[in-house]
Amino acid sequence: MPYDENHSPATGPRRPRRGLLTVAALVPTALVGWLVWQTASGPADNKPPKVLPPPSRATTATEPDRAPSPSASSPAASPSPSPSNGKGSGSGPLAGKVVVVDPGHNRGNFRHSREINQLVDIGTNRKECDTTGTATNAGYTEAEFTFDVSQRLRTLLEKQGATVKFTHSNDRPFGPCVDERAQFGNKTKADAVVSIHADGSATGNRGFHVILPALVKAGAADTAPIVGPSRELGERIAGKFVRATGSAPSNYVGGGTGLDVRKDLGGLNLSTVPKVFIECGNMRDPKDAALLTDPSWRQKAAQGMADGIGSYLNG
Ligand code: ZN
Repeated sequence: MPYDENHSPATGPRRPRRGLLTVAALVPTALVGWLVWQTASGPADNKPPKVLPPPSRATTATEPDRAPSPSASSPAASPSPSPSNGKGSGSGPLAGKVVVVDPGHNRGNFRHSREINQLVDIGTNRKECDTTGTATNAGYTEAEFTFDVSQRLRTLLEKQGATVKFTHSNDRPFGPCVDERAQFGNKTKADAVVSIHADGSATGNRGFHVILPALVKAGAADTAPIVGPSRELGERIAGKFVRATGSAPSNYVGGGTGLDVRKDLGGLNLSTVPKVFIECGNMRDPKDAALLTDPSWRQKAAQGMADGIGSYLNG
């Protein structure tokens, strides 16, 4: 199956690996956060390996061939309904700031393969409108996960006074397409956009990573104005995500930094406002899946994102 909009391609050239020292100099926030957490928490089951593994692109990004049963997710796993008018409280540290939250995929995509397989222009090339996303082996879908975390994140950001807008609320039959998702943030003139995902990689591949836009100038895509601020946003989120969740940065993407840079994602290529994706963990790994299906962990994940966004916006 075609690889996911956000997931790592199953094939393709391997990007050159950056040295650890170079990476450390580039991303002090994430690494410092990780070190602080390690020091505070001591040895943990999910600590990164002592020797950094190569940033293998062997991840299969396997997508389910059928729609996993929605009943696999416990009702208790859903946050309390959070009807929102999209407006912040008008006071608080993020008053006046607009944050767009993009819940990755859509629960209905499984039933609309023809529509979501239609190609859209992402600047560098044409690509599927959207994908189904992945799921845990037990059938908890990525779309369920992303919408749950998005709701939690909205609540947290609104408490700080931000205005929060969703690209969709699972109230449409499928999509939106990746180009629409990018344009939503652009039209909203968002101060920051985060697209929430979870990966579908091989068992043993664990941890989160934040995806930053590469410098892309092709067709309708020109990321030059957003590469710098998006990196700042992504580093803040990675650092705060480590602290809030205690989860290690990915052991299979990003060389242990929790950061990756990609030029093949329409959602980033077409953005004119600071934007990142976050892969919160690997749904296909049982240990990561145990976290991703735990509502209390999802709350921590949302808290980490909110803290990172807040830190970036208050720069
Ligand atoms: Zn995804």
